[in-house]
Amino acid sequence: MALDPNEFSAVIKVRKGKTYPDLINSLALRNLPKETAEAEGWPTFYMPEPCANGHTAARFVKNSLCVDCWRVRQGRETIYPTAKNRTYYKQRDATPTLAANGAPVVIAPPAPVEPKPVEQRFFAELATLRDIDKAASAVPGWTRGTVESRCSSNPIFKAALQDLTDRLGIATRAPDAETFKWSPELEKNFAMRLVDCGLLEQTRTELGVSASSYHTHLERSPAFAALVAAAEPLARLTLRDRATKEAAAGNDRLLKILEVDAPEAISTWSVERCNAEITKLLQRFDAQGLFVEQSNADLVS
Ligand SMILES: [Zn+2]
Repeated sequence: MALDPNEFSAVIKVRKGKTYPDLINSLALRNLPKETAEAEGWPTFYMPEPCANGHTAARFVKNSLCVDCWRVRQGRETIYPTAKNRTYYKQRDATPTLAANGAPVVIAPPAPVEPKPVEQRFFAELATLRDIDKAASAVPGWTRGTVESRCSSNPIFKAALQDLTDRLGIATRAPDAETFKWSPELEKNFAMRLVDCGLLEQTRTELGVSASSYHTHLERSPAFAALVAAAEPLARLTLRDRATKEAAAGNDRLLKILEVDAPEAISTWSVERCNAEITKLLQRFDAQGLFVEQSNADLVS
């Protein structure tokens, strides 16, 4: 019984006359058990079981090797979600819960938590094209407006989009080269957000700042460079806080990264104190007139 490979991936390949879903270079759109893939003569299968490295990725039928592990060996980036943030598929607990008297407790099946096929198609396009506008255009009937409105109405979609854009460093705001300008306000927001979320990449993505604009501005504005330098140790502390929470939830990857780069004395500060310190710094920079005025800023987008 021949299955339609289009149902399993947005990218289809043909090899030796056989058409199959390309789960190595594009995300699986739905589960594909190993037996099914084998019966179809397809090279890969996909069940959302994380590998030893946490990739919730497709695997090769012949040896069950995770395709993201394989991609890493090839020096390429991973494309599937990692186990720390399994937003595409959530597995149900297979162990039945037992009541105090030993009788199994019947729980109503949870509502489906995975994005709809059309949304998964969008995510597959986004993983390949790395641009929200382009990915939306690649899905029939979709525009950026579709993406924005789904974000507002659908928390599962929003979380999956956030996860993918975070991991791949895709800007979530439309880059507007015409009107984008660094302003004292943006610089302050940037520093505050960096302290609050702990991650430079995430801060840039959320504020719609491209990597090139960030680095150029860092070079051109000593005040902004000083601000980021001051925010970084505080950001590291926030990150440690996040890492500790994630470690408590069973994922110590962030914590391990941070242990290598141990923070100094301020590690004992509270997040409130960090925010108070950054506010003081901002006021000092402001008082010294270190912030460039928007009017005379000859800054690139
Ligand atoms: Zn893997």
